[in-house]
Amino acid sequence: STPFSSSSSSIGSLSEVEDGGEKIINLDHGDPTMYESYWQKMGEKTTIVIPGWQSMSYFSDIKCVCWFLEPEFAKQVVRLHKVVGNAATEGRHIVVGTGSSQLYLAALFALSPQEAIEPMSVISAAPYYSSYPSMTDYQKSGLHKWAGDARSFNKLGPYIELITSPNNPDGFTRHSVINQTGGALIHDLAYYWPQYTPISSPADNNLTLFTVSKSTGHAGMRIGWALVKDLEIARRMTKFIELNTIGVSKDSQLRAAKVLEAVTDSCEQAGSSKNSESFFEASYRLMAERWQQLRGVVNSSGRFSLPEFSPAFCQFHGQDLQPHPAFAWLKCLKGVEDCESFLRGHKILTRGGKHFGASPQYVRVSMLDRDENFRLFLKRLSTIR
Ligand code: PMP
Repeated sequence: STPFSSSSSSIGSLSEVEDGGEKIINLDHGDPTMYESYWQKMGEKTTIVIPGWQSMSYFSDIKCVCWFLEPEFAKQVVRLHKVVGNAATEGRHIVVGTGSSQLYLAALFALSPQEAIEPMSVISAAPYYSSYPSMTDYQKSGLHKWAGDARSFNKLGPYIELITSPNNPDGFTRHSVINQTGGALIHDLAYYWPQYTPISSPADNNLTLFTVSKSTGHAGMRIGWALVKDLEIARRMTKFIELNTIGVSKDSQLRAAKVLEAVTDSCEQAGSSKNSESFFEASYRLMAERWQQLRGVVNSSGRFSLPEFSPAFCQFHGQDLQPHPAFAWLKCLKGVEDCESFLRGHKILTRGGKHFGASPQYVRVSMLDRDENFRLFLKRLSTIR
C-alpha cells in the first residue's frame, strides 16, 4: 500500500486489467486522465522545446526566498489566480514543490518547533484525505505526529490543522473546526477551481497549497505551489526542499508555466469569438455532465446514495452553481457494511471509508478518469440490483 493507493489495489492494477472477460474498473486513484482529451485538442499550444544547454544550473532566482523558483512559473501562477479569483497572491511568497505532496511535508517541517519536547499533533476533520496520516508518520519524525480526527482532538498545546476545501473525499467546503489558540493551519486547496466548486472569494490564508495535478490535470509533471504569508515559514519550507531534493525540476516548472499560461489565456479570450470557451468552462461542463449521469444511475438503483450540495454564487462563472467534486463519496445502502468489498465483487475498485477515518459503508470514487472508463463504470453500476 502506498500513500497513493489503498491496500485493495496496487498501482499496477490499472483499468486495462481483464478478469474473466470483464474489465476491472479502477477508480481508486484520483488520476486526472479525463483532461487528456482537452489538451489533445489544444495541439501545439503548450508544446515547449528545451535545448540541451538550458536549465542546467541548480539556481533560478537567488534574490527570491525560494531560490529554485522559475520566475516564469511564478508569473503564471499570479496571473492564473488573478483571472480565476481563487487566491490572493499580493504580499505572499511562492514556494514551488514536487507536487503539493512535497509542499505538505515542507509545511509540516516549517510549522513544527525544532526544539519541542514532543512531536506536534497533526489533525484534520474526518473524512480526511487518506494520504495525510501516512505522509505525516512514515518517517517517524520527532517533529510531528498524526493525531487523527480534528473533531475529537482534545489535547492542549500546539497543533497543525489541515483544511482541505473542497474536501477530498466528500467534496464539501470546509473551515477550521478547532477553536483554540496555538494552532497552525495548512489550507490544501487542490480542488478550489471553477470546474469543481463555486469560487466564492479569493483564499486569504497563512499557508495555502495548490497543485497542477487537479487544476489542469498534469499530475505527471509533479508541480505544486504554496502561497505563504510569513517569510520565515517560506524560508523553512525552502530549506526542507533543499535538504530533500535540492530544488524542483526546472523542466517541469517551465512546462507548468506554459500550461498555466494557456489556461489563463483561454479565460481571457473566452467569448471573444464564436465557440471560444475557457479551460474551466469546458471542464465544468464535463464535470456537470458526469455528475448528472452518476446521480441518474444512483437514484434509479436505490442501492447507493451521494452527498447533496447547495448551490452558491461562483465569482468566476458569474452565476449560482452546484459543486461537482473530483470524487464521488458514495454510500452503500440496504445493509451493505463494506462498500469497497461489495463494489470489488462487481469489479469496480474504489477506496473504502476507513482510509479516510470514516465508515466502511462509504467509498471514494474518482470522477476524473477517461470517458471510456467512466462510461463503463456507470453501465456496471446500473446493473447492480
Ligand atoms: N492534496 C489533496 C487533497 C489531494 O487530493 C492530492 C492528490 N490526490 C494531493 C494533495 C497531492 O497532489 P500532488 O499530485 O500535487 O502531490
